[in-house]
Amino acid sequence: MPATAASSAVQTKFEPVIGLEVHVQLLTATKAFCGCANHFGSDPNTNICPVCLGLPGALPVLNAKAVEFAALAALALNCQVREQSIFARKNYFYPDLPKGYQISQYDKPLAEHGWIDVPAEHGLTKRIGITRLHMEEDAGKSLHEGFSDSATRTYLDLNRCGTPLIEIVSEPDIRTPGEAFEYLTRLKEILLYTAVSDCNMEEGSLRCDANVSVRPRGQEKFGTKVEVKNVNSFKFVRAALEYEIERQVEVIESGGQVMQETRLWDANEGRTYSMRSKEQAHDYRYFPEPDLPPLILTPKFIAETKAKLPELPEARRKRMIAEYDLSVQDAHTLTASREFADRFEAAAKTARNPRRVANVLLSEVGGRLKALGLEMEQSPVTMAGIVLAADLLDEGKISSKQMKQLFDVCFEKGEDFGPVYDREKPQQITDASALEKLIDEEIAANPKQVGQYRSGKKTMAGFFVGQVMRATKGQANPALLNELVVKKLEG
Ligand code: ADP
Ligand code: MG
Ligand code: ZN
Repeated sequence: MPATAASSAVQTKFEPVIGLEVHVQLLTATKAFCGCANHFGSDPNTNICPVCLGLPGALPVLNAKAVEFAALAALALNCQVREQSIFARKNYFYPDLPKGYQISQYDKPLAEHGWIDVPAEHGLTKRIGITRLHMEEDAGKSLHEGFSDSATRTYLDLNRCGTPLIEIVSEPDIRTPGEAFEYLTRLKEILLYTAVSDCNMEEGSLRCDANVSVRPRGQEKFGTKVEVKNVNSFKFVRAALEYEIERQVEVIESGGQVMQETRLWDANEGRTYSMRSKEQAHDYRYFPEPDLPPLILTPKFIAETKAKLPELPEARRKRMIAEYDLSVQDAHTLTASREFADRFEAAAKTARNPRRVANVLLSEVGGRLKALGLEMEQSPVTMAGIVLAADLLDEGKISSKQMKQLFDVCFEKGEDFGPVYDREKPQQITDASALEKLIDEEIAANPKQVGQYRSGKKTMAGFFVGQVMRATKGQANPALLNELVVKKLEG
């Protein structure tokens, strides 16, 4: 069975229905219900105490920062935060859960009714509903590898027990694996902007379970869903969904029925396989957590939290597109991370012409980095260097050709723009009579273009500027050259 893009049979006869459940670890200093450090990478079983181990008699105390982060995320995702939410025990047995239950939220979650807009075809957006966002605690980790006796033993690291999580459950609004990818990308971006999590999938701070079913096109009723777990990158989520959609369509087309089950994604084989069926499904026997009172959030707290929200990626892109005259694509590049967008905007403010800073950054630096397969963070040219180049260009102290040559040197030698400019100090022809002579030559050689200019096509001035620039190997002072070209053509 091919695990490639959804087949045409899928597209014409069947419609996929997808809903995502995303777990996100919160970046609090301490755990959700005790004072243990919430820290990835500590020696195993060093950040534990009677509360997070669930020893008899230990009582949980809710971490206020975790509540603030969860509420912040909820508001950033357009959710309504409940004034009263209830903690519940989700009971199950697993070696990495010594307590025998996770504290979670069930019928009264922290927040509900949110949404994320994702880009759709034809420049439109599609709104994906968020059913709920609730708080819970993480379980520990079973270590099946990495020890000399790993073949016969499993070790436990309980440091992760009690790490504060939010779970974000989407409505079954997603219709394609590509849309799922977009949803996750936007979700992660929003969470990074609000700084509630580092969303590091390798370290498990963001984890995604994908629910998917297919139904004949035109049918309203959803098909039977399968939950795919163990997908640890957004690309794998897309691939797993593509695989699973094809598998389900094949089952139906060959006269069978899709079984409700949990399947695991195997990245090496590029396929899913059954983990447990509905008959073995967990019955978590949720009940209200007797050791924690209802969580009451006042309208004042909710309003104050909302006021703390930073400008979110989509709004920021819209503003920056207008402010810096950017394409949508460029706006995405500049807002890829909040820190980068902040650094860019702080720098652009100091320049003569902020739009030019965006332009130099994207076309000169961005273009070269892309060709080298490097990220913005790895650039030899700093923001200050970019501002300097933009200002020099704006003042006509260097031509764009000279700027390009200087950037070439920067990237060849791994140096910032400032020192390269100081050393190379590109020559400029600022002698008006020398330039006039060259302009006269071009005017004589290009009567057709002169005619076009004089019959009203004023943009032809650019042609002559370009010709003289080429003749001077980019050394003509651009401002002076422009002025003289117009003077000559008008004369
Ligand atoms: P469960 O009780 O099995 O966890 P939920 O109703 O809580 O199921 O839904 C879990 C996730 O599955 C949600 O993201 C939801 O949007 C999605 N979902 C629900 N039904 C379907 C379906 N038939 N096909 C695809 N996704 C679904
Ligand atoms: Mg569920
Ligand atoms: Zn603890």
